[in-house]
Amino acid sequence: MTALVLIEIEQGQVRQASRSAIAAASHFGDVDVLLFGEGVDAASALSGVRKVLHVPAAPHLLAEPTAAFIAQHAEAYSHILSPASATGKNVLPRVAGLLDVQPLTDVIEIKGDDTFVRPIYAGNALVTVQSADRIKVLTIRSSNFDPVDATGGSAAVEVLDLPAEDEKSRFVRVELSNSDRPELEVARVIISGGKGVKDARNFETLLAPVADKLDAAIGASRAAVDAGFAPNEMQVGQTGKIVAPELYIAVGLSGALQHLAGMKDSRTIVAINIDPDAPIFKVADYGLVGDLFEVMPELAKAL
Ligand SMILES: Cc1cc2nc3c(=O)[nH]c(=O)nc-3n(C[C@H](O)[C@H](O)[C@H](O)COP(=O)(O)OP(=O)(O)OC[C@H]3O[C@@H](n4cnc5c(N)ncnc54)[C@H](O)[C@@H]3O)c2cc1C
Repeated sequence: MTALVLIEIEQGQVRQASRSAIAAASHFGDVDVLLFGEGVDAASALSGVRKVLHVPAAPHLLAEPTAAFIAQHAEAYSHILSPASATGKNVLPRVAGLLDVQPLTDVIEIKGDDTFVRPIYAGNALVTVQSADRIKVLTIRSSNFDPVDATGGSAAVEVLDLPAEDEKSRFVRVELSNSDRPELEVARVIISGGKGVKDARNFETLLAPVADKLDAAIGASRAAVDAGFAPNEMQVGQTGKIVAPELYIAVGLSGALQHLAGMKDSRTIVAINIDPDAPIFKVADYGLVGDLFEVMPELAKAL
């Protein structure tokens, strides 16, 4: 059996989430990766990869042409995977549709070639599903699989032609937020702010100094994002990013079910909240009942 993994590059490196998807794929046998655009050296150096299928001049992973391309090459593979990233969630269900198979999303455990575990109901139940489809199409929850090494491999590279022009969608522009902080999904430490942080400036003056000291990523609740305190891509939760860092510090957020769905698998959870009855304290390993406007500067100083 051979698996194909759609990988993504960021700043010349294969994203850690993609390397986790490769680790998941290695359960099935040989692993080939599919790379659109630049980054072929990084892809070829990945540990545990047999072959890189490289489409050089296609940097934007628009769903229509990308899915059509994968579907064209799918018959050589028993499993097709990607991380459950925005791109993976956009492309892979279309691939499954084109192949007339059922996609399995957000897989957290692989029990066999056709049997997988995935969370449902915002992570409150886990289902074990067996797929009878001839090709399994899976998106992988990266926090559940240790990434393969970025170096040490020397996979062969096969260059493939650009997918035919697709008239249905067109790339116009991208707006990226620039940050030197670690990526949210792979950070070892995350400090997240909620509505209690009160405004965007306080994210900078109260959360950022602590994040700097801990080399942490900064996250946010949906209420904080909706109020404009933080950009969308910082949202943790059911409709945001799913994270499982070693340390998750929740500051001024209540711990609604939909937020917990994104972070309750963190190894250690710390909550700082003025309300002793806030539900976040039910999942917190360490809780501090206090005013974040006093606690955060003290914490930054103590670190
Ligand atoms: C379909 C659906 C999907 C959703 N998806 C998500 C999601 O992905 N992620 C997500 O986060 N939410 C999501 N939500 C929203 C969720 O239900 C909550 O509304 C949201 O998480 C609340 O955000 P919050 O905790 O920041 O705000 P609040 O619930 O308003 O909590 C603010 C907290 O700050 C505390 N506080 C206030 N002042 C201070 C202070 N000075 N010091 C210390 N603490 C203080 C308060 O005690 C309170 O506990 C979703 C909702 C729906 C319906």
